[in-house]
Amino acid sequence: LLENSLDAGATSIAVTVKDGGMKLLQIQDNGHGIRTEDLPIVCERFTTSKLATYDDLSRIQTYGFRGEALASISHVAHLSITTKKADSECAYRANYADGKLAPARPGGRSEPEPCAANNGTTITVEDLFYNIRSRQDALKNPRDEYTRIFEVASRYAVHNAGVAFTCRKAGAPKADLCTPHGSTAIANIRQIFGSKIAGSLVAVDHADADLEAEFRGFVSSAAHEMHKTVFLLFINHRLVEHTPVRRAIESLYASILPKASRPFVYLDLRLSPQNVDVNVHPTKREVRFLNEDNIVGCIVDSIHKAVLSANDSREYAVRGVGSRQPSLPH
Ligand code: ADP
Ligand code: MG
Repeated sequence: LLENSLDAGATSIAVTVKDGGMKLLQIQDNGHGIRTEDLPIVCERFTTSKLATYDDLSRIQTYGFRGEALASISHVAHLSITTKKADSECAYRANYADGKLAPARPGGRSEPEPCAANNGTTITVEDLFYNIRSRQDALKNPRDEYTRIFEVASRYAVHNAGVAFTCRKAGAPKADLCTPHGSTAIANIRQIFGSKIAGSLVAVDHADADLEAEFRGFVSSAAHEMHKTVFLLFINHRLVEHTPVRRAIESLYASILPKASRPFVYLDLRLSPQNVDVNVHPTKREVRFLNEDNIVGCIVDSIHKAVLSANDSREYAVRGVGSRQPSLPH
């Protein structure tokens, strides 16, 4: 849902959660909205506005393209959409069940109802898995589920620092996550993960034309202590798991960090879309790409160099402070 808001060009995204999202999960954005005439079909399977031609499939620049999120949600929760395009006089609100428009109350009308709302879209998901007991039971407790939602929202906030994000529990006076519009990745890392972590990070930035890969980000320098690995990996802007990248970076850090210390890694990896397969995992959580070994090697080298040079300059700085000799010209 966050990705849908980003695809809609939102500059502000607010997440509201009740009971770990099981009772209520609401995503409000100020994006371009949904056309009123599209409302009857948006929750049908394979409905997407993000592919115009067949060839678009090989150069996908949006997060979505499969038209499955809203459809799936409408089968397992009470889903409603309120949306307003900038040029529309009023907003419309529609309820869905099993992919189709449904009345808000039994016996009511199914057609979208005009209402008042700001430009943009609010997706409201209530009573998740109300009709599938086993899935309900498989969810963790509300606290853990909320933590996971918060983590996903925070990671998107770091990666999309231009967009303002909030995440809060319904009714809470204060948001747990609140990043300003037009921020930077490092400022958001500082806000979310603390200034100690943010202050110990070094930048990596590298492009390799042969591998059609480039990456940038912020990673722990060896001089810093943390007890849990924090790993934010975005491949072509998508928050993903990629075990080979993670393992390789972890083993690099195992050789340079003190034993009890764990790294913080935020990596924004861009690959040619033709080289990435985003379809290996049903929820697009894992991806595969061409030249994996070489690209992983390249990432590890760059991180290693960045950490070494950061620690070199830190040592010089420390020595410089204590010495009485006049400092040498650079
Ligand atoms: P996909 O993202 O793969 O296209 P989804 O099921 O996630 O499929 O969404 C279906 C369609 O609903 C999208 O293609 C888009 O047109 C519309 N949509 C969903 N969420 C939003 C939103 N927040 N703002 C504008 N349009 C949206
Ligand atoms: Mg989508």
